[in-house]
Amino acid sequence: MAPRPLRDPSPGRIIPHMGNLSEGRHTDEHPSAIVARGLVVRRGPNEVLHGLDLDVPSGQLVGLLGPSGSGKSTLMRAIVGVQLVESGTITVLGMPAGDPSLRHRVGYVTQAPSVYADLTVEENLKYFASVLGTDSDSVARAIEAVDLTRYAKTRVSRLSGGETSRVSLAVALVGEPEVLVLDEPTVGLDPVLRRDLWALFARLAADARTVLVSSHVMDEATRCDRLLLLRNGDLLADVTLPELFERTGADDADQAFLTLVERTEVAR
Ligand code: ADP
Ligand code: MG
Repeated sequence: MAPRPLRDPSPGRIIPHMGNLSEGRHTDEHPSAIVARGLVVRRGPNEVLHGLDLDVPSGQLVGLLGPSGSGKSTLMRAIVGVQLVESGTITVLGMPAGDPSLRHRVGYVTQAPSVYADLTVEENLKYFASVLGTDSDSVARAIEAVDLTRYAKTRVSRLSGGETSRVSLAVALVGEPEVLVLDEPTVGLDPVLRRDLWALFARLAADARTVLVSSHVMDEATRCDRLLLLRNGDLLADVTLPELFERTGADDADQAFLTLVERTEVAR
């Protein structure tokens, strides 16, 4: 059977995909690492995600972009399996999100990262490695990956904001996960630190990891291989930046997002 198209010709509209859930729609080179179909999530009295369909290709740096309150953190929580899902499916590396077999394979940094300020970088990582039951080599490798080797014996309380963010990231790298889910890791950092962190995310993706990074700063779209644009719990687009520009006629990410929002409103 020929694959069904996912989209109708009008921008941002998604047709439900009825294919094999674990396959997703990405290519052999980048099979889908994360697949959601009809994902509905309710938090308190509000339905936050309204039947979301999405595919995150493996080995790419994917930006989950949307304004504050659009549901980025909720979606990420569903991906890592800590969010109660009302209906629909979500699989990660072919397993249901939150499956115990994914514990080492998925790394997650929340919006309010928790590392221990009174422990050194290395002590923090050793602690998390012991929780995960991973070997101590992975501690050294994680510290090196985030370029903090020279601060390994430094207490986190003595580090700058950007360095502390990198410690959180290193925690997520312990256990050498194939999928990294990073919730607004660059918020509040200065432009140089943001640039350095995005360069690090790109290196991690180049190393065959799937890296999903959320941001409410549309400009960060320029750093990503692909973009998932979220608004009010709906996926407005799943595109590359050039595709987004072509589709909207805009030449910056902010304007492109606004154009998509306006078209969706007209279509309603
Ligand atoms: P984002 O990360 O994009 O800022 P969130 O996923 O945090 O968005 O929130 C999406 C929506 O869910 C918002 O409208 C928010 O008010 C609502 N929400 C988040 N957490 C809760 C909660 N614990 N109870 C009720 N509603 C919540
Ligand atoms: Mg959030």
